[in-house]
Amino acid sequence: MGLSLHESVSRRKVPFAPADPTRVTIYTCGPTVYRNVHIGNLRTYLLTDILVRTLRFLGYGTFTAQNITDMGHMHQEQLELGEDKVIAAARAAGKSAREIAAFFTEAYFRDCRRMAFLPADVYPRASEHVPEMIALVLALEDRGAVYGGDGYIYFDVSKVPGYGAFSGTALGEGTPAERTDPEGHRRKRRPEDFVLWMPAEPGREFQWDSPWGRGWPGWHSECAAMAIKHLGPEFDLHVGGIDLRFPHHENSRALATTATGKRFAAHWIHAAHLLVEGRKMSKSAGNEYTLDDLEAGPPSGGKGTSAAEFRYYCLTLHYATPMNFTWEGQAAAARALSRLRGAYAKAAERGTAGEDAAAALRDKFRSAVSDDLNLPRAVAVAHEAPRSGVGGEAARALAAEWDRILAVGLLPAAESGREPEGVPPEVEAMARERDARRRACDYRAADALRERIRASGYDVVDAAEGSAALRKIRETRER
Ligand code: AMP
Ligand code: ZN
Repeated sequence: MGLSLHESVSRRKVPFAPADPTRVTIYTCGPTVYRNVHIGNLRTYLLTDILVRTLRFLGYGTFTAQNITDMGHMHQEQLELGEDKVIAAARAAGKSAREIAAFFTEAYFRDCRRMAFLPADVYPRASEHVPEMIALVLALEDRGAVYGGDGYIYFDVSKVPGYGAFSGTALGEGTPAERTDPEGHRRKRRPEDFVLWMPAEPGREFQWDSPWGRGWPGWHSECAAMAIKHLGPEFDLHVGGIDLRFPHHENSRALATTATGKRFAAHWIHAAHLLVEGRKMSKSAGNEYTLDDLEAGPPSGGKGTSAAEFRYYCLTLHYATPMNFTWEGQAAAARALSRLRGAYAKAAERGTAGEDAAAALRDKFRSAVSDDLNLPRAVAVAHEAPRSGVGGEAARALAAEWDRILAVGLLPAAESGREPEGVPPEVEAMARERDARRRACDYRAADALRERIRASGYDVVDAAEGSAALRKIRETRER
């Protein structure tokens, strides 16, 4: 299989060697669902999609968990506003935090479908894993790695040998950005210690009973608890944006390894950030673009762009290279994709030709994606094929094969497999499994399957007799 991946801890490219090649386990830090995701988030989630698609292309099996942070306490703005964003948005709209989170979760899945992301196998909700988070804190308590009082529990990083080495952070060099617990700084023994549990302020919708009183968990214990629950205390790959390396990943890892005595993730991959016209995205700068903004086109006027064109734009840069999104660059990417599709349409019409060239290009593509997911090189190979005289069935076969990773529609939908006619067999299989679970009254499993079916772009319409029909979700531009 020969896949090599850059590893963020050792900062080297290493051969990828999963514990079980038939089930490579992957955890991705998912969205906070109190707003639409922006194109920077999507670039990072694209890394997971490329990783999963490449693993499958190379013959591995995969199992992916992506959490949904529906408790809404992760953002720096909270410090400034002193108010939870989910609750603030919910209040403004007269809705409950749960309703708001459910709305933006659906919006997120719709964005994922537009980006042609393969759905994760599970989407754990932070709010549904609080007992697991409490159990994790209790395990840390047993190991003498926590302190606190008055409903606050802190993790003592001095109990973790080599804390900081993971992210290359020297201790005492400054206060890490604290995205939770604005109150708690004063109680901590050192800046790097972080909150595991804190009391609920009046009016907080998301709160639970715990051995330390009524309250809610810190951010870092959320991801660690969900990863351990769904992938076990040792799994293969952990993915996120580079900004999460410290403190979030350093801390998730420190508390997971301390609580379980196991390794946690074997391999960490971080995506470089996306800037817009050379600037950090922000609401105040008005450049925090969503997919809908891309479709609407540049603020100065001009043509909008599709999610597939944005996907293509991202693929022309390596994931570890910062991306500077510009409208000009996006327009150039759209033209290049259109040229590429045109070249394949023409090549497919010719008589079959260039089969030797096709075999050589097939190898080149495979070695590009195997070399730390080098998609820019793979895209260049895709451009090369129609130019090298590959035609007919040979060209169609290459396009279909490569679109299993690129997923930009090299050939018109029905031919390339991006949008097959009828319901895909794996969706049918999930629907059958869901029926079986419902008949067995295992509604939790049935609901989880329904969600995966929805994330694959299909709605389950339950019929009176108990069996369900599948209907493709029509992407409308509501909101
Ligand atoms: P957040 O909702 O801020 O926790 O971000 C969700 C994911 O998107 C995380 O993996 C972040 O690292 C990533 N992310 C946030 N901002 C950007 C950006 N400008 N470019 C690329 N990835 C980002
Ligand atoms: Zn996380």
